[in-house]
Amino acid sequence: MPHLVIHQKKLTPALVQTLIGLCPFGAISEQNGQLVIGSGCRLCRQCVKAGEGAVELCGDAPAAAVDKSLWRGIAVFAELRGSEVHPVVPELIGKALELRESCPQPVWAVLVGHGCHDAARELAHYGADAVYVYDDPLLDGFDPQRYTACLSDFIVRQHPAAVMVGATMLGRSLAPRTAARFRTGLTADCTRLEMRENSDLVQIRPAFGGNIMARILTPHARPQFCTVRYRVFDRAARRSTPAGPVISLPLPGAALSSGTEIIKRLDRPQEVDISEAERIVAVGRGVRDQRGLELARRLARALDAQLACSRPMVESGAFDPRRQIGLSGRTVKPSLLIALGISGSVQFAAGMGGAECIIAINQDAAAPIMRLAHIAVEGDLYQILPALLERIEKGEATHA
Ligand SMILES: Cc1cc2nc3c(=O)[nH]c(=O)nc-3n(C[C@H](O)[C@H](O)[C@H](O)COP(=O)(O)OP(=O)(O)OC[C@H]3O[C@@H](n4cnc5c(N)ncnc54)[C@H](O)[C@@H]3O)c2cc1C
Repeated sequence: MPHLVIHQKKLTPALVQTLIGLCPFGAISEQNGQLVIGSGCRLCRQCVKAGEGAVELCGDAPAAAVDKSLWRGIAVFAELRGSEVHPVVPELIGKALELRESCPQPVWAVLVGHGCHDAARELAHYGADAVYVYDDPLLDGFDPQRYTACLSDFIVRQHPAAVMVGATMLGRSLAPRTAARFRTGLTADCTRLEMRENSDLVQIRPAFGGNIMARILTPHARPQFCTVRYRVFDRAARRSTPAGPVISLPLPGAALSSGTEIIKRLDRPQEVDISEAERIVAVGRGVRDQRGLELARRLARALDAQLACSRPMVESGAFDPRRQIGLSGRTVKPSLLIALGISGSVQFAAGMGGAECIIAINQDAAAPIMRLAHIAVEGDLYQILPALLERIEKGEATHA
């Protein structure tokens, strides 16, 4: 087990203060003249780097070298939604095509399901060099074990350097299972991706409550797994002709059996999905009562927009969690987002960066949302909204 050892004799009073001050977790303290590492330590190694030899990391197993030249290609898992490919898939292919500009290699899509050849032929128009398909009645509907067996089989055959999976309910189950089989790393909910010439994937995502953007690497293992939420990247353009062939692969032996027996399938009721909304009216803590909520609802109706919210509105019980935008909510990419009484915290903004036009109504000109917005309206929403609604409802303004 890796752990830190402090060589007390190498410490000077100045170094002690430096180490205490630099620990991002407040885990270093001085007790009875000794420097002590507390239970808050996350082994970030900042103190090892700055400790001038006084702090040593012990028991860290040397990483086995991986021959990166044997791992080439970017595989995109092509999740099905009904008989069609989930809309996150063309977005992942778009990003994979961009990544290979810095590290030339093939881009593949991998489809698992039953009766999915039409979906595969359609997917071939989005730029992947080949679409690989596992199509079998046993793969009708998501079975984690069978799907993991298929994706693992693909990895063993093709040796991709990176595997990209949508951060959907299915993807969040499939990606970690498959990554664990290959004893490799997985970064969930990446918001940016870059690729180095040696095929190392730089996986960038908010961390520590959105206070930093972490750049995460998997330099000692392959393949590198990442999940990406819907609406984070731009879709690959559809081409008039397929970019590559559709290749059928046989069901691997490991997918023949499963510990899950499907007894009955129930159709889930259609869920609200603010990620797909073209127009959004988002409500924050500045909307403090039923009157404010009714104004927001009227605005949403008038603009044919979906209602969404910041986290405090979910915590207060006013909104369903599926309507929350942000780091711990959904990512949205509407053409219009109107933020009512929202301050624009980093955690909220992490979910709305792709909006084409943001209009903020806030009484505090210094609120971060006012800098992020394309149109910032300073004032009391309880005064602005009735006047705006009157004009919209009279037909004097067709959109805000
Ligand atoms: C790990 C972690 C994850 C998080 N994830 C999310 C997330 O996914 N989504 C999220 O939203 N938050 C998230 N948060 C919470 C986040 O830090 C903020 O607390 C939250 O976004 C604030 O919501 P708000 O803007 O509605 O409220 P406030 O920050 O309280 O802002 C209210 C705003 O309304 C304005 N206002 C008040 N009255 C009026 C009025 N009459 N007219 C006009 N303006 C008015 C105020 O000037 C203020 O700017 C997370 C926090 C953590 C630690």
